[in-house]
Parts: sequence; C-alpha cells; structure tokens
Amino acid sequence: DTIGANLDRAVAAWPDREALVDVPSGRRWTYAEFAAEVERLASALLNSGIAKGDRVGIWAINCPEWVFVQYATARIGAIMVNINPAYRTHEVEYVLKQSGVRMLIASLSHKTSDYRAMAEDVRGRCPELREVVYIGDPSWDALIARATPAPAYPELSCDDPINIQYTSGTTGFPKGATLSHHNILNNGYFVGELIAYSEQDRVCIPVPFYHCFGMVMGNLAATSHGACMVIPAPSFDPAATLRAVQQERCTSLYGVPTMFIAELNLPDFADYDLSSLRTGIMAGSPCPVEVMKRVVAEMHMAEVSICYGMTETSPVSLQTRRDDDLEHRTGTVGRVLPHIEVKIVDPATGITQPRGTAGELCTRGYSVMLGYWEEPEKTAEAIDAGRWMHTGDLAVMREDGYVEIVGRIKDMIIRGGENIYPREIEEFLYGHPKIRDVQVVGVPHERYGEEVLACVIPRDPAAPPTLEEVRAFCEGRLAHYKVPSRLQILDSFPMTVSGKVRKVELREKYAGTTA
Ligand code: ATP
Ligand code: MG
Repeated sequence: DTIGANLDRAVAAWPDREALVDVPSGRRWTYAEFAAEVERLASALLNSGIAKGDRVGIWAINCPEWVFVQYATARIGAIMVNINPAYRTHEVEYVLKQSGVRMLIASLSHKTSDYRAMAEDVRGRCPELREVVYIGDPSWDALIARATPAPAYPELSCDDPINIQYTSGTTGFPKGATLSHHNILNNGYFVGELIAYSEQDRVCIPVPFYHCFGMVMGNLAATSHGACMVIPAPSFDPAATLRAVQQERCTSLYGVPTMFIAELNLPDFADYDLSSLRTGIMAGSPCPVEVMKRVVAEMHMAEVSICYGMTETSPVSLQTRRDDDLEHRTGTVGRVLPHIEVKIVDPATGITQPRGTAGELCTRGYSVMLGYWEEPEKTAEAIDAGRWMHTGDLAVMREDGYVEIVGRIKDMIIRGGENIYPREIEEFLYGHPKIRDVQVVGVPHERYGEEVLACVIPRDPAAPPTLEEVRAFCEGRLAHYKVPSRLQILDSFPMTVSGKVRKVELREKYAGTTA
C-alpha cells in the first residue's frame, strides 16, 4: 500500500473513531475528519504547483498540522523533508539547499525559537525555495484556501521516495535518509502489530514528529491500526505528558529513556493517574534496568516494548514482544522484526560472528532506506553490495536469538589495549545512591591512549559524589581498567532534540578534566 491508500482503509474501517487529539489546543479529529483535512491540504499543495517528487520541508514543533503535512505530502507523492526544530539558520539553510526544498512549512515561533525570523533570513539564499508558509498564520489559511474538491492525484508507487529524514546527528553532521512508502508504512505497521495496537488504543506521543520515532513508530503505527495519536505538548514537557495520559486515558506512551527518567522524577509523579497505560515504546538509546523496573511497576506499562533502530532503516529492526520477561526487556532489544534479516559481523573482516560474540550489527530487508539523499559515497559506505545496512553499532546475538546492543563502535573506549563499553559502567554507576544520571566517555591519556571519564548528574546538587567515592563504589566489583579515573559533575548533558546524549560533545569538552 501507499500511505494514502492505507489511510483510506482506516477511514473505511473506523470513520468515527478518534484519529488525532491535540491536548494543548483541545482540538480533536475523527478518522473521517482527519482524512478530510489531509485531502484539503493535498489538494492545496497540488494547486500550489507542488508535483510528485518535489520537496516540501516541514520545520515545526509537534502540532496537528505537522501530521496533516505528513499524510498530504505522501498522498500526492511529494517528498517531505523533516527539519529538526532545534536547527538554526546555518543548519536549516544547509538542509533546504541540500534537499532542494520548494515549499517550506514552518511553525511561527516556540519558546526562544523565532522560526519566522530565521526562515525569512535564509529564504533569499535558497534559490529553489519558492514559498514559505507558517502554521497558525494567514499564510496557512491562504494555502488551504487553494484547495478544490476532488483533486486529481498523480499515479504513485510504493517504492517512490516520499520522505527525507535527517539522522539525529549524535555522532556528527546529520545525513538525509531517503525513504519510500514501502519502507516506513510497513515498519510502522509491524511495530504496531507487535504491541498489539487496535482501534481501542490511544498513543501519547511526546517525542518529536520530525524524528522517525514520532512519525513512523508513533503516527504510522497508530493510523495503520486505527489507534488515536495524542499530542501532549509542542515539545517535550514531562508534566504535560503525564497530564495528557491521565486526561486522554492513553494506553501507550513513548519516550527515550531520559524522558521516562524526567517523568519518574517529577515531584508530583505519584499524583497522576496512569492506570490506563498498558504499553509503550522506549527506544533510541539504552535503558537503565532501574528505570525499566519503575516504568513497569509505577507507570503500569507491563507490556512496554524496547525497540532498536536507526533512521536509515525506517527505523525499527529489533523489538521486544509483549510476553518477554523483564530480563529480556532490560538486557536486550528483543528479536528481529518480521521480514527483516540481521547478522553480526567482525568489523575488521566482515565475517559473520557466532552467537554470543560481539560484532557490528547489519540489517537487511524492506526497511533499508533507498539511500542518503544525493550522497552516493556515504550511501555506499553504509549499504554494501548485498544490500546490508552497516549500523555502526556493536551487538551480540544470544543463543535464543535476542540481541544485546553493546554500544556504538565510535563510543567504545580503548584503554591500554582493553576494549571498554561505556554502557556497562553506566549501568553499574546508576546503582550509586548519589548518582541520578551518568554518561561514560573516553578521554585522551598519554600512556593508556584513552581513559574513563564519568560525567555525573548528582541526585542532590548540593552533595555530589567525589571521585574517591565513585572509585570506592567500583573497587572490587569492576575490573580495574573500567573504574573511572576522572569525574565531571554536571547539571545536564548536551542532547539532540530526539533526546540523545551527544557523547562527542562530552568527549571534546571534558577531554582536559583532571581529577
Ligand atoms: P547520527 O547517525 O546522525 O550520528 P543517530 O545515529 O543517533 O545520529 P538515529 O538514526 O536517530 O541517529 O539513531 C540510531 C542510533 O540510535 C542507532 O544506531 C543506535 O546507536 C541508537 N539506538 C537506537 N535504539 C537503541 C536502543 N534500543 N538501545 C541502544 N541504542 C539504540
Ligand atoms: Mg546513526
């Protein structure tokens, strides 16, 4: 199916069920109403000269119009370009030019971001950009006013590119993964299938739509099963998220681990009624065991699913199942999805590793992107001649087929010839009573090559742990070379908008930390 055909099917099956709720504005749409909004916008885009294959940029915080743009562009075969709402002029200009955006649809402003001022600043320097439309502005109404009844949609194929999603930029400059209907619709469908979505489900989506977590695992997973998308706030806000779950009786809640940590740490956490929850997805980075236990016990998310994926693979390739036990849900990222293959290879030789041995995770199947937009060399580095996507992540496949993610190849610390995986030390340090959150990175050392730096957010800022305390905690329980030799106390970590810690920044900034 194309995304448009799939939406038609949902409308036919569940016309009067809710499709979308925007909690901040109180606006809500049934499937029939939602599809009507999508049709109007699709027609308006066609009548604005947007043809199949043209790029339409969306640079916006989470709002219903974001979702309309997602489905309307897919309906006419235009290529939606997701632009990170945290971007500033330099990055936006790069993306607009790199992907040749013809029409940009942007938020007006949010918090300290004045999107209109920034867009007006760059538009003159982007020759292919013909029109900029702002959501919640007369220019949006003017766009919608161009809609005419019964538009003539172009002929579409499931393999047409319809989306350019830039990666999170955790390890460097983001790359534009080009994806088809087939790539992302199938992936959303299977992710929803494995957590048993139905028209009874209401999915709270506090993760950004610009990222695949929001628009595929959220929106496409929900609509392909008749579930309702609930927008708790324009950008992540832990209290607004829990309020939305309570008010809308959500059955599913998404987040990266840091978001769940923020919710669990709210001073009034115990006052929210979260009893409607049954499931959700935690993905994007490793989840500490302690956090998972609290999510299951205190947020009622007994069936919470762990997903592993990357933008380039639509994104999900591994996922835990509903009946997996806590150990598999914390120690692994589950098993491979239907119709996807995985293998683990020795990064040096490319030879497939036996089960139980770490190596680079590679995936293959419908989910692998068409390529990086206009970057054939980078595409060739990532996808080999056999169509295997090389993820850059180290993983182990257990005997029972469950996969453990060891960490990114780039984050591995090599100290005096010993390979150290930061995740293992982070897991361990979470158990320290004075530590609220911790990131471990390698920093240069003249004798050992690298050594272990622990960046710690203390539970009580007035009483942070000392290096001696941290070392004493590890002594005798971790191999000596893994014990942090440096400590940096912080009140927050540098993050990507998708909620991931930018270890590169920690490494660069604190390379000189001594004690
Ligand atoms: P960039 O490629 O621009 O550096 P990024 O890799 O963070 O950024 P994404 O595509 O958003 O961009 O994220 C994919 C990566 O996130 C994976 O390669 C993996 O390192 C990490 N990841 C995703 N899910 C999990 C998970 N469940 N556990 C551990 N790591 C995960
Ligand atoms: Mg990546």
